[in-house]
Amino acid sequence: MPNTLYDALVAPHQNNASLLFRLKDRADWTYQDLLETAGRHAALLDSIGAGPGDRVAVQVQKSPEAIALYIACIQQGCVFLPLNTAYTAVEVEYFIGDAKPVVLVCDESSEVALNSIAKANNCNILTLNSDGTGALTTQAQTKSPRSEPHPRDEDDLAAILYTSGTTGRSKGAMLTHRNLLSNAVTLHKYWQFNDSDVLLHGLPIYHTHGLFVAINTMLLAGGSFIFLASFNTDDFIEYLPQSTTMMGVPTFYTRLLSDDRLNKELVRHMRLFISGSAPLLAETHVEFEARTGQMILERYGMTETNMSTSNPYDGERRAGTVGFELPGVEARLVDPESRKEKSTDEIGVLEVRGDNVFKGYWQMPEKTEQEFTADGFFITGDLAKRDADGYLHIVGRDKDLIISGGFNIYPKEIELLLDDQPGVLESAVVAAPHADFGEGVVAILVTRDGHSIDIEAIKSTASDKLAKFKQPKEYVIAESLPRNSMGKVQKNVLREQVKDTFT
Ligand code: AMP
Repeated sequence: MPNTLYDALVAPHQNNASLLFRLKDRADWTYQDLLETAGRHAALLDSIGAGPGDRVAVQVQKSPEAIALYIACIQQGCVFLPLNTAYTAVEVEYFIGDAKPVVLVCDESSEVALNSIAKANNCNILTLNSDGTGALTTQAQTKSPRSEPHPRDEDDLAAILYTSGTTGRSKGAMLTHRNLLSNAVTLHKYWQFNDSDVLLHGLPIYHTHGLFVAINTMLLAGGSFIFLASFNTDDFIEYLPQSTTMMGVPTFYTRLLSDDRLNKELVRHMRLFISGSAPLLAETHVEFEARTGQMILERYGMTETNMSTSNPYDGERRAGTVGFELPGVEARLVDPESRKEKSTDEIGVLEVRGDNVFKGYWQMPEKTEQEFTADGFFITGDLAKRDADGYLHIVGRDKDLIISGGFNIYPKEIELLLDDQPGVLESAVVAAPHADFGEGVVAILVTRDGHSIDIEAIKSTASDKLAKFKQPKEYVIAESLPRNSMGKVQKNVLREQVKDTFT
C-alpha cells in the first residue's frame, strides 16, 4: 500500500549503509540507523495508539533521534507537529489544546511543567533529550522495528507547523504529503543535490528550513549531513572544509563574515551556499562573494508554502533578490484593493499557487478562506516587486506597511537608503502612533563596529533622496536589532519599544 513520502524519501534507503549524520560528540548515524530507529519509534507509537491522522507533538532539542521520530510519524501515518524549543509551558498548552495530539514528546527538563497539560488533554507524554536518551528511546528499544508504512496518499496530512504568530493567534499550517514531496523533488533538482553532498546543518529542526528544506531534500539525494546542535562560528569554520553545501539564515553569513578565518581556501570544497527565512542584505551577498569567491543563493519561502522562489543555480544570483518562481510554482503581484496585477517595478502583494502550497490552517476554515483567492492563490502577505529581468524583490510584509498622513510607506525602501550611510551596519524602520499623521516613521540604526553615525548627515541625505512623508521623523541608535531564532527582525518588538516616540 502506498505512502507518498515514505516511499519516496525513506524506502529507497532500506539497504543503504552509508553515512547520514556526522555528529560532533556522538557516534555517527547511517541511513540504516535512521530507518531502524524510526521503525522502533513507529512500533512504539503504534503501541500507544497513535495511528494515521493522529498528531504527535514534539518539543525537543536537535538530535538524530528527533529526525527518526519525524520519519516514524510519516511511516505511522501520523501528523508530525514540531514546536519551537523556546516556547514556554503556557504557550505549549495552547498548541496541545488546539491540535489535540495523542502524544507529546519533550525534553526531560520540561516534563514536570508539561505533564499536567498533557494529562488534562488526554495526551501521552514521552521524553527525548539532546543526547538521545529518554523514555522514548528506552521504550522504543524494547520494540521490533516496524518495516511497513501505513498507507497515506498525497492529500493526507504529514505535518502541522504553527506559524510564529507575531500578529494574533498562532495558526497551524497543515502540510500534506504532496506539499512536502513536490517541494523536495523540485529543490533536489534545482539546486543539483547529489549523493556526494555533505550539508553543513546548524538550523533548528522545528522550522520548515532546517526540517523540510534540508532533511527532505537530502533524503532524496542520498548525501549526508554534518549535523550540529546550532550555529556556532567556530564549529562552522572547523567543518566548512569538509562540507559541500550549507543552508543558513542571513545571520549565519554575517557572523561568518565577521571572522577573519573565512576565506577562499576555507570554502574550497563548497559548491553551494543557500540563504533564506529572512532578507539577506545585498551588502552581505557582495561582501561574501568578495571574500570567498562564492555567490550566496538566496531563496524565499514560508511555512505555509514551502519554498516558492529561488535565485538560479546556474546564472546570475542577484543580490537583494529572491530570484524566480521555482518550477511548478506560480507567483503574481497584485494590488490588494483593485486586484489588478502589478507591472515591472511596481510593489504588490505576492500570491503563490502550486503543489507546494499548504492545505489550510488547522481548524480555521474562515481564516483559510480569507487567505486564498477564488482562483486558488495563497496571499502570502509579503510585499514584492519584479524587476525588468524577472527577479523578485521582497520589500516587506504588508503588516509592516506604514501609512503616514494617508501615504503608503514601504519600510524597506528607507532601510535600503539608511543601510548605505556611513557608519550604519543595519537599520529597521517602523511606525509609531502620531497625533497628526496617524503614524510617524521611526528609524532604528545599528552602528558598524569602530565607526560612528552622524544623524544630521543622514537626515540631510534622507531629505535629498526621499519624499518628505517618507523621511524618518525620529532616529534611534541601538546596539543591535532584536531577531528571532530564524534571523527575522522582530518589528513587533521594535514597534513596542518606540510606541511613545511622538506622544
Ligand atoms: P516562516 O514561515 O517562518 O518561514 O516565515 C516566512 C516569512 O519569512 C516570509 O513570509 C517572508 O516574510 C520571510 N522570508 C523568507 N525568506 C525570505 C527572503 N529570502 N527574503 C526576505 N524575506 C524572507
